[in-house]
Amino acid sequence: MTPTIEIVPLLVDNYGYLIVDEATGTTGFVDPGEAGPAAERIRARGGRLDWILLTHHHGDHVAGTTELVRAFGARVAGAAADAARLPALDRALAEGEVWDFGRLRVRTLATPGHTRHHVAFLVEDPDRPAAPDLFCGDTLFVMGCGRLFEGDAETMWRSLAELAALPGETRIWCGHEYTLANARFALSVDPDNAALRARLAEVERLRAEGRPTVPSTIAAERLTNPFLRVEDPAIRRRLGLESAPAAEVFAALRKAKDTFRG
Ligand code: ZN
Ligand code: FE
Repeated sequence: MTPTIEIVPLLVDNYGYLIVDEATGTTGFVDPGEAGPAAERIRARGGRLDWILLTHHHGDHVAGTTELVRAFGARVAGAAADAARLPALDRALAEGEVWDFGRLRVRTLATPGHTRHHVAFLVEDPDRPAAPDLFCGDTLFVMGCGRLFEGDAETMWRSLAELAALPGETRIWCGHEYTLANARFALSVDPDNAALRARLAEVERLRAEGRPTVPSTIAAERLTNPFLRVEDPAIRRRLGLESAPAAEVFAALRKAKDTFRG
């Protein structure tokens, strides 16, 4: 039995996620940037909330925490290293730590770059070890990546490379709906990528219908996300960085994205 995952749109373009281990009823909510819509969804499922999982300290990911703790008695889990900036933690997670979530396992991956102590949660179902669910906050987005607020390009590149090495079937649930803008930038640096063109068309259709573009998969990102394609010869040629180290190509892409007006 795979976990049930519900996408909960929050604020302007944030996504929170309700995770339910159907075997035990254990329920978690990732990144409650506001409480109202999260609480509504939790009540609709019977009012159980065991855990709040926080990827990083930014307000648009944590602001609903206190209210959800009060309403449902949930406990809070986040990076031990960032405990001073996060809401009060009941479970302070170390890098690489694995904890039991009902019959699921949650692995904490350190993914610094957007913030110094950003983490991603890899939720593994023991029956489907090759197809876990990744909650990656503002590190990896569909066809994009987070801004470098507290890390340099090298640091972010290492975080992304680690995520890119996860199984191809890993589903990606990221912190924002930025996909359309990301896809347009991606096409500007990778215009001959047929998979990317096809995906942009699909994403335009989904957004026109008001539907989310998550989840993606690691396999799809490897094919279409320029930030995971820094070894691609065509992208490198376009940037004039044919033989540069991967982190340097990544830095050039991130810089180009920061000033891109599609
Ligand atoms: Zn953020
Ligand atoms: Fe954010």
